Amino acid sequence: MPSVADILIPLALDNAYSYAVPAGLVLSPGDVVQVPLGPRETVGVVWQVAESPGGSNLRQVTGRLEAPPLSDSLRELVDWLARYTLAPKGSALAMALRLPDEAARGETSRIGVRGSGKPPARPTAARMKVLAVTADGTMRGKSALAKEAGVSLSVVDGLIDDGALEAVALAPEPVALPPDPDHPRVPLSEAQGEAALDLIARAFQDSEGGEAKAPTILLEGVTGSGKTEVYFEAVAEAVRRGHQALILMPEIALTAQFLDRFAERFGVRPATWHSGIGSKRRERLRAGVAAGEVAVVVGARSALFLPFSDLGLVVVDEEHEAAYKQEDGVHYHARDMAVVRGRLENCPVVLASATPSIETKVNAEKGRYAHIVLPERFGGRRLPDIHAIDMRLDKPEKGRFIAPPLVNAVRATIEAGDQALLFLNRRGYAPLTLCRACGHRYQCRNCSTWLVEHRFRRALVCHQCGYAERRPDACTECGTFDNLTPCGPGVERIAEEVTELFPDKRVIVLSSDFPGGAERLRAELQSVADGECDIVIGTQLVAKGHNFPHLTLVGVLDADIGLTSGDPRAAERTFQLLQQVTGRAGRGDKPGRALVQTYQPDHPVIAALLSGDATRFYEEEIASREAAGLPPFGRLAALIVSANEREVAEAHGQALARAAEPPQGVMVLGPAEAPLALIRGRYRFRLLVKTERAVDLQAYLRDWLGRGPKVRGNVKVAIDVDPQSFL
Ligand code: ADP
Ligand code: ZN
Repeated sequence: MPSVADILIPLALDNAYSYAVPAGLVLSPGDVVQVPLGPRETVGVVWQVAESPGGSNLRQVTGRLEAPPLSDSLRELVDWLARYTLAPKGSALAMALRLPDEAARGETSRIGVRGSGKPPARPTAARMKVLAVTADGTMRGKSALAKEAGVSLSVVDGLIDDGALEAVALAPEPVALPPDPDHPRVPLSEAQGEAALDLIARAFQDSEGGEAKAPTILLEGVTGSGKTEVYFEAVAEAVRRGHQALILMPEIALTAQFLDRFAERFGVRPATWHSGIGSKRRERLRAGVAAGEVAVVVGARSALFLPFSDLGLVVVDEEHEAAYKQEDGVHYHARDMAVVRGRLENCPVVLASATPSIETKVNAEKGRYAHIVLPERFGGRRLPDIHAIDMRLDKPEKGRFIAPPLVNAVRATIEAGDQALLFLNRRGYAPLTLCRACGHRYQCRNCSTWLVEHRFRRALVCHQCGYAERRPDACTECGTFDNLTPCGPGVERIAEEVTELFPDKRVIVLSSDFPGGAERLRAELQSVADGECDIVIGTQLVAKGHNFPHLTLVGVLDADIGLTSGDPRAAERTFQLLQQVTGRAGRGDKPGRALVQTYQPDHPVIAALLSGDATRFYEEEIASREAAGLPPFGRLAALIVSANEREVAEAHGQALARAAEPPQGVMVLGPAEAPLALIRGRYRFRLLVKTERAVDLQAYLRDWLGRGPKVRGNVKVAIDVDPQSFL
């Protein structure tokens, strides 16, 4: 009987389409195929196949493609992701498919050339130079050979046509060498050894039988406790058992330093997956992962959708990181999806953090996750002493931002030959520029944001959309010369102050807009670790996961910065960030300390940080979330309505609100103008849905959107389940 295949296409479509399977072609769910779609051909994945007498009016599958099929569990993950986030199923599939672009698809094999031993017909000087290079018998790429010989590519081509050079297919470089789980390693401390044994026992004992469910485990260890060394042991155990392991990291934490540490433990560097790798390498890595040849992948959040053939462990490092939430396209949280994938593969998931998210902490306390704690730093090192500088009493000099006690501490630190880090979570020179003559404030023309001065680039820049204009000499409003004033500090302005204070010291500014991109930035982070500068000035980028052994002082310039926003996660975020950044101090042989500039030393978050009592902070924050019915004790979803005209966006938001009809246990708030009311020329309104924990939030949303107003014209409604950002 002929069969019909339901094919899901990686476009923003909700349902699979039915196609007839041509005679002779046998398809299974997960196969990657080519199908006609409208006037074009496109790629899709078989979601289901059924025998059916009546498929004759359907279009036919064109053929199967040579790509690794999607496993059952990966397809379930796609279904799950779409159901949970309300994203179109095809958009969820696109993340698991990530097809290479056209350019990369052709160049699958590398061609090399070598001398054939046959003399050339015309032995010109250029030709002889090439043959001299090939005399060593090595195979080289054509352009590499031309370059080495100092001739043009046409000379090499001529020699190939002549038969003096022969073309050979080069074996592709392996994407990754196999890691050795029993590579000789530095000994673990007693506490680490115990934690590692405990971790391995919990992770693997039960799941092997096939009966019990593989657990999720919170590995909570203070900064510098050596969590990495501990979860490496679990990775080693997964590899020993012949399984694959995935280590997820926030993108920027994927440093050479981390890869070297991996190499010290396993003898080779791991395969990596992040936005910087080329599409050709991407495709080979996917194939290697699907074939089970790649044992360990270290990757950013999208590595979660790689086609592992036998996933035996997932580690989510720095699990509390907001960077795990994707804020465009499919709004998903990679940590949560890692837990889902673990469940679908029945493989253990380890969540590692010094400052776990409230959600994870509650799951551990309720016994839904296992919990392993490393309460002390490795090697008897102490956590830094943290003191407040009360900015109401110890004021910086006029026009300055670093209070005298911090200046003195920096001086003492660098005089002792150590490093100091000054932390301010603001890029650029000044967050606001105004004209002192007319009061005009410089604002983005596409967004409701102030333009941030970047003095180095001599520009005013929008941090939302990237719009930039030259910093004018005269006010664009009133024409007065030399009257523009920067208001407030950014890291560049702090660097100016530091250079004036310590003119002969080596100062480096690190933020995500560091010129030269991620690779340069990673190199700079390494140079800091190597002690090649005295004072580091940085944004949150330097707070995370890095190990700077020479750093003994951390100065937080504005601890209060994140506390004033209306975001329900403001307290948690601030606590985590400050705990992480102060935790950079004293990780080497010398003890560290931190000084925290604040106007509200009695604020619960600041007080908890100063007392070093994380337990108290978590208790209070969990209690207040519970009282307010906020996650994880209730559920949240945001709808962001945007349009090119303000009235259109607002009207659509209001029509949505009228259709909300919230049942028992559901509350719909808004529409309210978003804090970022205008981004890239689009006006934005937000609605917030808050439900009790037992409510099926997705079912309610689907219902509501189904009866809500039709989306017309340029209106867009983005759905963000479990929102992390409220802007
Ligand atoms: P965490 O991730 O918990 O903040 P790390 O895993 O980065 O801590 O470890 C902190 C520092 O201690 C690193 O420099 C690491 O190399 C070192 N360290 C941890 N465990 C050991 C060990 N068993 N032997 C030697 N050095 C270790
Ligand atoms: Zn803008």
